[in-house]
Amino acid sequence: MTYIHDTITRLQHSSPAQAEFYQAVEEVLESIGPVLEADDRYRRHSIIERITEPERQIMFRVPWVDDAGNVQVNKGYRIEFSSTLGPYKGGLRFHRNVNAGIIKFLGFEQIFKNALTGLPIGGGKGGANFDPKGKSNGEIMRFCQSFMTELYRHIGPNTDVPAGDIGVGTREIGYMFGQYKRLTARYDGVLTGKSLLWGGSAVRKEATGYGCVYFAQYMLEDRGDSLTGKTCLVSGSGNVAIYTIEKLYQLGACPVTCSDSSGTIYHPDGIDLETLKDLKEVRSARLEEYLERHPGASFIPASDYPCDGHAVWRIAADLAFPSATQNELTEADAQALVAGGCKLVAEGANMPCTQGAVDVILDARLCYGPGKAANAGGVSTSQLEMAQNASMQCWSFDEVDSKLKAIMANIFRAARDTAAEFGEPHNLVLGANIAGFRRVADAMIEQGVV
Ligand code: NDP
Repeated sequence: MTYIHDTITRLQHSSPAQAEFYQAVEEVLESIGPVLEADDRYRRHSIIERITEPERQIMFRVPWVDDAGNVQVNKGYRIEFSSTLGPYKGGLRFHRNVNAGIIKFLGFEQIFKNALTGLPIGGGKGGANFDPKGKSNGEIMRFCQSFMTELYRHIGPNTDVPAGDIGVGTREIGYMFGQYKRLTARYDGVLTGKSLLWGGSAVRKEATGYGCVYFAQYMLEDRGDSLTGKTCLVSGSGNVAIYTIEKLYQLGACPVTCSDSSGTIYHPDGIDLETLKDLKEVRSARLEEYLERHPGASFIPASDYPCDGHAVWRIAADLAFPSATQNELTEADAQALVAGGCKLVAEGANMPCTQGAVDVILDARLCYGPGKAANAGGVSTSQLEMAQNASMQCWSFDEVDSKLKAIMANIFRAARDTAAEFGEPHNLVLGANIAGFRRVADAMIEQGVV
């Protein structure tokens, strides 16, 4: 596979020190090898060379004033990767680790995820190396306003429509939308994940977690199994993790863990959702406080877990839902999951499994829902929010939820049928990557060399 080696070498020279980006590119290239061999149009049109280079990368200074009156400066990004299938679409991440390589990996994944949904949306991603932890409301607002003061000139309801991601929820979207409106004097559907009070969509908050559980349900049903009575491991305790836990309960499963960067809660009776929402959605508290209300649970501090991996994955259970961040589930974790009898891994987060972990999971023939398929419910519901904004309509919770369910079923079928077409029916990584790639690559050929 010299083209994989050549592409990665070229990217290492043209875009140095972007390890997560090379990892994401390598995973896609490994999957699409059979398509490139079967159809030489993709090589003749230099699709790989073009699709690995963003159409546009915007990096900017974000100055703001903290509560003590000191001037702070962060770095902002918006990477507009591909507009082949529609306006750039993808979230904004505010986290101290954000850099160009992380935003590029997320933007690259987004191209194929969005293509797989079958909806008219291109791929993009953005964010800043801003750490929202411990910041006051006023500081968050001033940061968001400064961020939008540069970003507004690059986005629009038909050009680029950002949403939330790690560190960016309804509050941050609200502050950014307010500043966009003030700068442009327009009330556009320029951001998704808005509050239900002023243009948001029902189910958007729940969509990624709910969609991931629907995807898991379709994978299990395909093997004659179901979610009922299954013990589940969930990592993270943010937006995706909370609504994964909520939907697991609704469908008869029992989630027993959640985590944050301070450690892991293990509650064998089942995570108490009300306590978790209160800690994380209302009070932004540390996870360890969960024990004050549930002494039967245990807390494993991240600092007590120095070995390779994450405490969540060392607990025996039926199903696993990594929902925190990239590379949080290592090869050693995957081996522990297999040894513990786990049957399924569905990725709520983006690229949470290392390549070594993916190999272990596929070799053991577990059901494996890669993020670009399993967590596509978030961006799909964002597109439903765009559709409602553009038509000045407001759909009910049940209406959006049933559309979400249908979209997740379509994504599952596209990934499964494409995997079968290429002789590896259990391999949804291959199926998702090829199905997404073919749609966007064929459209690129039809649109000429741009
Ligand atoms: P949130 O900011 O709401 O929550 C993130 C959670 O992950 C927090 O509990 C956080 O803990 C934990 N976390 C983050 N980094 C680390 C780390 N290095 N080690 C341990 N825990 C960590 O983000 P979301 O729930 O929105 O996003 C989670 C994942 O899902 C991301 O990969 C995101 O890209 C992906 N995703 C999100 C979508 C959405 O609609 N929101 C859509 C599709 C994918 P702490 O607070 O301590 O940092």
